[in-house]
Amino acid sequence: MENLIELDKKHFIHPTSSIQQQQTDGAKVIMEKGEGIYLTDNYGSVYIDAMSSLWNVNVGHGRKELADAAAEQLKKLAFSSAFSTFSHEPAIKLAAKIASLAPNGLNAVFFTSGGSESNDSAVKLVRHYWKIQGKPERRKIVGLKRGYHGVAAASTSVTGIPEFWGMAGHMMTEITHADTPYGSNTERAIASFRHTIEVEGTETIAAFIAEPVQGAGGVLIPPEDYMKEIRSLCDEYGILFIADEVITGFGRTGKMFGMENWGVIPDMMTFAKGVTSGYIPLGGVVVSDHIHEVLKEKSAGTLFHGFTYSGHPTAAAVALKNIEIMEQEGLVENSRKMGSALLKGFQNMKNELDIVGDVRTMGLLGAVELVQDPETNKRFPKELKAASNVIEALHERGVICRAVTYENTDIICFAPPLIINQSQVNTVVE
Ligand code: PLP
Repeated sequence: MENLIELDKKHFIHPTSSIQQQQTDGAKVIMEKGEGIYLTDNYGSVYIDAMSSLWNVNVGHGRKELADAAAEQLKKLAFSSAFSTFSHEPAIKLAAKIASLAPNGLNAVFFTSGGSESNDSAVKLVRHYWKIQGKPERRKIVGLKRGYHGVAAASTSVTGIPEFWGMAGHMMTEITHADTPYGSNTERAIASFRHTIEVEGTETIAAFIAEPVQGAGGVLIPPEDYMKEIRSLCDEYGILFIADEVITGFGRTGKMFGMENWGVIPDMMTFAKGVTSGYIPLGGVVVSDHIHEVLKEKSAGTLFHGFTYSGHPTAAAVALKNIEIMEQEGLVENSRKMGSALLKGFQNMKNELDIVGDVRTMGLLGAVELVQDPETNKRFPKELKAASNVIEALHERGVICRAVTYENTDIICFAPPLIINQSQVNTVVE
């Protein structure tokens, strides 16, 4: 058997990676197992997974209950179609469960295999909604700069991080981006949104899409009233509001869904990641009762949109068990409490270290910014690669987190599993 690193180089094209770096450096870590908040590589080195891997392993690694739920369902009915009039119990029960957890008035679920498919589905659904409402000219989608929504056709385009458009250009037209509200005041951020929709033509806009807290953009928390103001502008101009809850859903921000922090109910909500804690791929779109009614009334004939794995029975069974664990163990509450503990730790660090700028958390979604001068918020020169070097040093000390360096920022992101306890938070901070 060839060495794993050589096989990796030869045959495995990694997602979101430097293909050249893989060829020169090889895979740096080959993970072998996970338990709780810890991951162990094939040399036996143990790491704290302070990112929940890809912001998704909310209940932590190695949960036997989830393996058992998958095994049971695999043995009973591993897969069958949910197309047309076919259905099955796990998907029905999961749709009902998600409806019971989602904000008021969002009660119907379309399933996908992940976040990108969910956002592409949301974009297609809003365009379809306007078409059957007799307003086919409402096709434009407004996203936010630094927003991240995935890498499929529509989700790449609504993503507001230009690096993601580099590979193949814009996949879709009729997409535009307003300024990110982070680091702005509500008034200025709203003015940017208002300006964007007026320039585009309010009657041509189908929907606005945003994450309750921008994750991949660098854990960017909007100002307090921003989402409320956006909601009322959307209402004023008849624009639908899509909340991308792919990271923020299922407890990450200390509430079941991130929008609850802002007291805003969207028209559509996309989810993935935490719904199964990453044990198996699953995502979806939850739509409002109003949209569901319009679809029931006016969407004639077959809706030609569905993935083979929409509502996959085994994925649905795992999701149901995952949500049961979250409820039984009070993980949303723990996310809120440990998020405060993490923030306290970050604030102490800021007081002690003069390279720490803004620190923030919302539940267990957190960030530490590195700055050359905390008084002026002056950044380190890009060539210093401050955040990347800190990530590297953390890695050597056995903590995995993520650096965000777009637009010359040095942000260290944290999103540990929602099961983390106080002493583990202390270790991460130390
Ligand atoms: N939306 C958000 C907010 C995300 O953070 C991500 C992935 O990180 C996606 C969508 C895309 O999800 P996926 O990678 O499952 O396609």
